Amino acid sequence: MLNNIIAKKSLGQNFLKDKKIINLIAEIGDINNNDTILEVGPGTGNLTEKILEKKPKEFVVIEKDKRMIDHLNKRFGNKIKVINEDMLKFSYEIYDNKNLIIFGNLPYNVSTQVLAKWIKIGNLDSFCKKFILMFQKEVADRIIAETNSKSYGRLSVLSNWKLDIEKILDIEPSSFVPSPKINSTLLKLTPKKKYYNLKDPKNLEHITNIFFSQRRKMIKQPLKFLFKNFEDIAENLNLELNLRPQNLNNLTYYKICEMYEALID
Ligand code: SAH
Repeated sequence: MLNNIIAKKSLGQNFLKDKKIINLIAEIGDINNNDTILEVGPGTGNLTEKILEKKPKEFVVIEKDKRMIDHLNKRFGNKIKVINEDMLKFSYEIYDNKNLIIFGNLPYNVSTQVLAKWIKIGNLDSFCKKFILMFQKEVADRIIAETNSKSYGRLSVLSNWKLDIEKILDIEPSSFVPSPKINSTLLKLTPKKKYYNLKDPKNLEHITNIFFSQRRKMIKQPLKFLFKNFEDIAENLNLELNLRPQNLNNLTYYKICEMYEALID
């Protein structure tokens, strides 16, 4: 199956082999013949093949490993467009308004970075109608985490800002070859039509970084660091200064970000 291609650990290469799981991922996409598909990290193309059976209008894949490029071109011919690039460096703007369905069994070492990059795209909802993505379970847990939970943090606040998040299922290491040491989780992420209006998502990353880099400390410290009038801000948001960062819900972080943006304007 691997055609003598030896999996590279540095590229997070764990290829899906479980046919049931591969079928299910393709099904979740609910693809019709008007859809344009983007798959990142197709590897040898096991998921690609199943998605193709759904007969999308267009199909583009982005794969970094040169060894896969020939293999993919041979396997699928002109049925797909193969781009040999790094998914972290790719200029996704060329697909503005394309309403993509994006698939990816994401390499674990870049999964949070590529997700953050996508979330920062303006008009996310017209760029992509849904993401069907596989993460390592621990990362998926952070994405879906609720306020007050152990996994709640920067990634939950950022993801929930623009995305509706649905957990599809957990997937065992034995579904992959070579099998990873960790469990994986499949998520479906749907861009929201309406989300809290912020000037620059980098500010949200900045704010949550300041709060969650000291998770155990009371929020008085980060508030004081960000705002001279931190006591007014806390009162305005109805927050006790002895709360911890994980006690503040998503909306509160968006409001704090908005206040910070007004300040630095
Ligand atoms: N989707 C395939 C392969 C998943 S393994 C399957 O499920 O079988 C992850 C894939 O992402 C590998 O093919 C790896 O080469 C590719 N990859 C790793 N880092 C990448 C990057 N930065 N940009 C694009 N592709 C990358």
